[in-house]
Amino acid sequence: MQGAFQHVRLREISRREMLVASCHACGHRNNIYPADVPAKISREIQLAAFEKQLRCRRCGQRGRASITVMQVKG
Ligand SMILES: [Zn+2]
Repeated sequence: MQGAFQHVRLREISRREMLVASCHACGHRNNIYPADVPAKISREIQLAAFEKQLRCRRCGQRGRASITVMQVKG
């Protein structure tokens, strides 16, 4: 994760934003909307910690993703 977002908390992501997770193991990219995050994940979690919990849907590796925050278009 790059510096700008690592201390941002999940609850701070607005409906105009989404998270883009990129897997370093296989290159898979996945858009994550805050509403899609399971309720068991604390909304107080910081993105640096959240990305360590992500499991790639393509290759199944955990903790290999990097998250960035993107504006939702349209
Ligand atoms: Zn992967």
